[in-house]
Amino acid sequence: MPRVRFITLGCRLNQAEEAIFAADFSANGWDVAFGGDDAGADGQEVVVLHSCAVTRMAERKTLQAIRALKRVDPTKTAPIVAVTGCATAALPEQVLRAAGADLIIPRTQYANLRFAIEAAIAVSSGFAPAAPPAGRASLRERPYLRPGRHHAMLKVQDGCDFRCAYCIVPYTRGPATSRPFAECVAEATAMAKAGVPEIVMTGCNLACYRDGVAGLPELAAAVCEAVAPMGATVSLGSVEPAICDEAIVALMLAHKNLKRFVHLPIQSGDSKVLALARRRYNGERIREILTLYRKKVPNLFLGADFITGLPGEDEEAFQRTCDLVKEFSFDHIHVFPYSPRQGTAALALPDIPSRAVARARAARLRTLTA
Ligand code: SF4
Repeated sequence: MPRVRFITLGCRLNQAEEAIFAADFSANGWDVAFGGDDAGADGQEVVVLHSCAVTRMAERKTLQAIRALKRVDPTKTAPIVAVTGCATAALPEQVLRAAGADLIIPRTQYANLRFAIEAAIAVSSGFAPAAPPAGRASLRERPYLRPGRHHAMLKVQDGCDFRCAYCIVPYTRGPATSRPFAECVAEATAMAKAGVPEIVMTGCNLACYRDGVAGLPELAAAVCEAVAPMGATVSLGSVEPAICDEAIVALMLAHKNLKRFVHLPIQSGDSKVLALARRRYNGERIREILTLYRKKVPNLFLGADFITGLPGEDEEAFQRTCDLVKEFSFDHIHVFPYSPRQGTAALALPDIPSRAVARARAARLRTLTA
């Protein structure tokens, strides 16, 4: 039985896609493995490296992972490495190939990922490759449920139509798309029936989920109701602030099986920095939103993302972010120093703090929730 190993970097959406890829291979006679760095240990193996490119660091990690997979001692057979994910859109093909990538499968070809790999193996064994079935537009999004895992990712949305000045994601994941409402509810029900304790609804810009008149709140309510009889809980992946916060609060109060957990990509507490970043709220509005969550939802686990060193962030602006973090006593924050990305509007903005300053501020901010 041929074996494929999935190594996934980056976000929950990547994890959700990994599970969808794995289900397709498993359903078609492949032995499936995850993670691990002993790829290729026992003969020819295929590794699907589902990459991330949200920051320059993430890109470096992707290239390092490819090189590491190809660096095997002479007694072992290096795996075939197929690279999928955002790095296939963010990095030139020759850069990925130079690192050792054998196959580069962009987002538009995910439906034929397995066929592309089977074809590569056939060719490397001197056989004629089988053609993928015509018209295979997408993968059947029935994820592979990993035994013993406490949660499974339910991908309901992808892409983004916003253009935050620092963000490369709309260029790597494309415009916003939403899965059909009924398909998402059926998927969640199948997961709960399969014994998954927690279903994590995820997307690229989850709060922008839309199927006809139904937005994220309507979908989340339907998923909560569908899986409650099986005792499963539901949680929301990262949700953009200032889109449907009031509705999410109402959902958490109405549905006992919706986890009181919210993670907001806030980025800064300063209105000037937020405006330059093209975020859809200012410092006052984000305070109102955080007050709403803190006041209305008891025992809420409140998480957030912050980026230090964004264009226009002077010491005063940074202090406003620190004050915000202290005021709302976040349970968890992810802090990233600003990473300039090719093709984004922020590159052309003035007053970008140095890398050293961005890193120093990131270290200071992280201490505020320790
Ligand atoms: S909302 Fe902004 S930060 Fe989030 S993915 Fe879209 S462009 Fe990027």
